[in-house]
Amino acid sequence: MKIAQIFLGIGILITTGCGVKAQDRTSTPTKAEIESRVDELLSKMSLEEKVGQMTQVTLDVIGKGENRYASDYPFALDRDKVKTAVSDYHVGSFLNTANNRALSPEQWYGIINEIQEINKAETKLGIPIIYGVDMIHGATYTAGATMFPQQIGQAASRNPELVQRGAEITAYETRASGIPWNFSPVLDLGMDPRFSRMWESFGEDPYLASVLGVAMIDGYEGKNNNIGHPEHIASTLKHFLGYHAVTSGKDRTPSYIPQDALREYHLPPFKAAVEAGAHTIMVNSGIINGVPVHANYDLLTSLLKEELGFEGLVVTDWADIENLHRRDRVAETDREAIKMAINAGIDMSMVPYQYEVFFDNLVDLVKTGEVKESRIDDAVRRILKVKFALNLFETPVTHYSNYPKFGSEEFEKASYDMAAESITLLKNEDNILPLEKNVKVLVTGPNANSMRTLNGAWTYSWQGEKTPEFAESYNTILEAIQYEIGAENVIFEPGVSYVEGGKYYEDEKVNFEQAISAAKNVDYVILAVGENTYTEKPGDLNDLYLSDHQTELAKALAKTGTPVILVLNEGRPRIISKFEREMPAIVQTYLPGNFGGDALADILFGDVNPSGKLPYNYPRYPNALIPYIHKPSEEQAKAEGVYNYEADYNPQFSFGDGLSYTTFEYSDLKLDKEKISTTGSVTVEVKVTNTGKRAGKEVVELYTSDLYASQSTPDVKRLRRFEKISLEPGETKAVTFTLNAKDLAYFTPKGESLVEPGDFELMVDELKTDLEVTK
Ligand code: BGC
Repeated sequence: MKIAQIFLGIGILITTGCGVKAQDRTSTPTKAEIESRVDELLSKMSLEEKVGQMTQVTLDVIGKGENRYASDYPFALDRDKVKTAVSDYHVGSFLNTANNRALSPEQWYGIINEIQEINKAETKLGIPIIYGVDMIHGATYTAGATMFPQQIGQAASRNPELVQRGAEITAYETRASGIPWNFSPVLDLGMDPRFSRMWESFGEDPYLASVLGVAMIDGYEGKNNNIGHPEHIASTLKHFLGYHAVTSGKDRTPSYIPQDALREYHLPPFKAAVEAGAHTIMVNSGIINGVPVHANYDLLTSLLKEELGFEGLVVTDWADIENLHRRDRVAETDREAIKMAINAGIDMSMVPYQYEVFFDNLVDLVKTGEVKESRIDDAVRRILKVKFALNLFETPVTHYSNYPKFGSEEFEKASYDMAAESITLLKNEDNILPLEKNVKVLVTGPNANSMRTLNGAWTYSWQGEKTPEFAESYNTILEAIQYEIGAENVIFEPGVSYVEGGKYYEDEKVNFEQAISAAKNVDYVILAVGENTYTEKPGDLNDLYLSDHQTELAKALAKTGTPVILVLNEGRPRIISKFEREMPAIVQTYLPGNFGGDALADILFGDVNPSGKLPYNYPRYPNALIPYIHKPSEEQAKAEGVYNYEADYNPQFSFGDGLSYTTFEYSDLKLDKEKISTTGSVTVEVKVTNTGKRAGKEVVELYTSDLYASQSTPDVKRLRRFEKISLEPGETKAVTFTLNAKDLAYFTPKGESLVEPGDFELMVDELKTDLEVTK
């Protein structure tokens, strides 16, 4: 059954558990138990066995097939290759799917179970394999799993409970696939719209990313991080750190990040996640201040392991030890690269292909004393701790038959709820939305009839190109609108389509003229534009404007005089200023997942009241990419005298923007005190009233401005707290936040945190009040 029929008209949130808590069958052993088991095991291990634990290999390497890079289809393990890897090289971890294609839970079980069995039979110690996969918005690489909105949309929902619930379901469905380790969440800041992975982040704000990152970890690992539970998984914080902050905007290119910016913006989400007990972390594949992060002792050991006290496992990103030699040329040989990375603090190498090179060299490096055995012991200890915590020694692979809720309607509803809360209404002139259901519409644009673009990359395949094979049963935007108002009231002409098999940015005109003439005979045009799917290097971008063809389509449609509802379906904000004024309504869907079409249709036609808020500044021009977190000089209004210059701060839409079909009025912003000391705290209260005619959800956001900061020019404003509330028409609620003086701290250029006495402004919506911090 098409899901639109099930959810039609339902805009409520289901918050009942998925049985996760009820079935607390196995729990993680205590820290002390784990430590003593690790000590015992470590004492029995040879150097080779230890180095093998630090080695992670991708699945294609051990599949039947011509070479290491591709396997036969359908996939089958090559038992000899598995044996060589686990018994001769003691490989302790595998990752990824094979042939870049999602597998069924049964297939996953078959593969992982067979690896574990061979491993047990062929190795002296039988240390279980840890299998890791990117299940980043639901179980990415499992056919039939529940795909959620990508993180950028989840950030727009501003709803930590829904984020946690989505992660619980992802954990359940990942375990249903026999997999205990997930390379998620992304805690990088999505602050650069040029970057190909902005949509994998929670947006540009460190506080928002911290709160939602912790919610996601709680969902994956359980609130107590009891990852031994058969419905929990180990999470991976990534990519430590500053990965998106590249100067060029291109993936895996150099960043220059001073200490204060590193600590003020990039570190907090990771710090919060480490404090939340996350078990593993993946390293930034890029280069900061000239040093590849994989070779950076100061970041990996001094900062992460010592200062933050991270006790878990540090894994490289894909081939990033090789990259020290082959790409970044800081190491003259592979051997030198391995030495650098392990000595910098890497515990496990995602090799992922030439594992013999890693293994042989590392064994030799220890024998010659270039890498100390104590460093190896530390790495292996961290790896074994995660394996024990996951209960892999007792249950090396979980069985799909124990996961009856896999792909259930209950789970799909949670994905729908997240999509419905994330979709963001950016513009609604004359309340043109919601539309009546008795209208005739033209649905057009390259994103109108695509499950692929609704999901983005990391969906059934790395770049998302295989989505049509797996997601046929879900509704595209077009199909959802047809269900909503009857197919007879919907005309579809794509106008522009993405080039089949082309690069993500290649599109072409398809029935362009037909689309324009059809627009003349309908009440409204629903134009779905944006991007095709991409991630990482293939998603690098040269022009942030929406494509020429799509722009031309938008302009031509507007010219017909029929009102155009612009629907954005994109991983990053593509610039629309060439035609934005001609669009009376604009709705941002981000990458809303398999139920995004249904949620969008329910919003367009008024079954759901939108409540998403932008998690980034949406730029108006490609050379004016100023994030919401910026300095006073970037929006300076006036200078005195003859040199009368103004800064031009001109986002198209701002962080936090998002309209509703009802109206909210804020009043009575007050503090319980006007002054606090540098160690004190203040309670902030504000009243919010629903002054419109519909029930709605509102995100109440508290911002602060530091009026003067003597060591470093302050940010214009910063998000400090938020809460999403529901209000019936006429209803008023008081929202209170506790703010600590230390929330108002900033980092000096030396990287020291400072709570500086002085005046601050606190803002909620349009209301402002002052707070003084005293000595
Ligand atoms: C990506 C990571 C991912 C890893 C394993 C890398 O290329 O940068 O985010 O977890 O591959 O698939």
